[in-house]
Amino acid sequence: MARVTEPSVVADPKVIAGLDAYQALPAAQQPTWYSQEALELSRKELSVLPPLVFAGEVDRLRDRLAQAASGNAFLLQGGDCAETFADATADRIRNRVKTLLQMSVVLMYGSSLPVIKMGRMAGQFAKPRSNNDETRNGVTLPAYRGDAVNGYDFTAESRLNDPKRLVQAYHTSASTLNLVRAFTTGGFADLRSVHDWNKGFTDNPANARYESLAKEIDRAISFMESAGVNFDGLSSTEFYVSHEGLLFDYDRPLTRIDSRTGTPYVTSGHFIWIGERTRQLDGAHVDFLSRVRNPIGVKLGPTTQPQDVRDLIEKLDPEREPGRLTFITRMGAGKIREEMPKLVEAVKGTGANPLWITDPMHGNGITTKNGYKSRRFDDVMDEVRGFFEVHKAAGTFPGGIHIELTGDD
Ligand code: PEP
Repeated sequence: MARVTEPSVVADPKVIAGLDAYQALPAAQQPTWYSQEALELSRKELSVLPPLVFAGEVDRLRDRLAQAASGNAFLLQGGDCAETFADATADRIRNRVKTLLQMSVVLMYGSSLPVIKMGRMAGQFAKPRSNNDETRNGVTLPAYRGDAVNGYDFTAESRLNDPKRLVQAYHTSASTLNLVRAFTTGGFADLRSVHDWNKGFTDNPANARYESLAKEIDRAISFMESAGVNFDGLSSTEFYVSHEGLLFDYDRPLTRIDSRTGTPYVTSGHFIWIGERTRQLDGAHVDFLSRVRNPIGVKLGPTTQPQDVRDLIEKLDPEREPGRLTFITRMGAGKIREEMPKLVEAVKGTGANPLWITDPMHGNGITTKNGYKSRRFDDVMDEVRGFFEVHKAAGTFPGGIHIELTGDD
């Protein structure tokens, strides 16, 4: 009798053991949970909850990123610095998606390239911190590490590193992703709705510029519709989610073995990146993420050396697989033109073709007079320009942009 489904591939025990090899390595930026027992319960619960993303989607994203790495697509990755449980409302999620759709249409129109849309969303609930603790007026409490770990309010109760929050992060990610999938496949993302994405913020000069571009797109679409082109394919769009792979107690229990191939996928997001503070070659993050099939990003700050880049390629992309590895540079506007060329050159001759994208936010941080962490818009723009200049000079592709944004005015 013909088989209707493929048999499941049983995972090699060595693959599972390898996934846990990170436990013997130094792991930076991990919270000290208030209870080991509570942590075990949360990890157990996460390990049996359904995956948030699927292996087939992850594989498709890898193909898309391979296109961007060779200059045939552009990646737009953006979202909150850190998501919060309180902000996971329908309005706020819709506004963030809307902002990304608006930005992608401008990029598409300007570059005539497909734009891969990816949110820092549905999992971006943890942050690396410079210090483990924070002291205010003589009181010391654990630093806020994101809603997946503790609360923002400066009280002992709120700052408790509580593993139950890992499970809440999963459920909040699930409902965020559900809405994102509905918005991006249910007609909201239809290119014929470009005007609808621009409601509000009418006193912002960018609004008028966007409106005139939307009018041009409308005209082009009407012209092509009248010529018989079928635009039904434009009514939905692929949308991927990503987060920093920071907390092993979240990402490891959500790592599953794909029944088709017997290989592991982190199922808490399509794309996982390693932060500037956790990219040590012999550290736990690089080891763990070297063993999963997801496309992996690595942040590269201004102290990165050419040999670091070559070592990261060897460790994370030994097979030189198209779309596997993305370097996210965050040098700072004042340093990019000086520090980046040698990194781009270092890749030549390795046989790898990583995707290069720019994060013009994290190397340009300033603290405002009232204590807010911020960036100057001109610095952000200057780093983006520098990124394009360096690639142009090297003959390589500037393949995308990684930014922090909200859907607010
Ligand atoms: C981030 O992207 O949230 C972040 C902390 O970036 P980096 O690792 O580049 O500092």
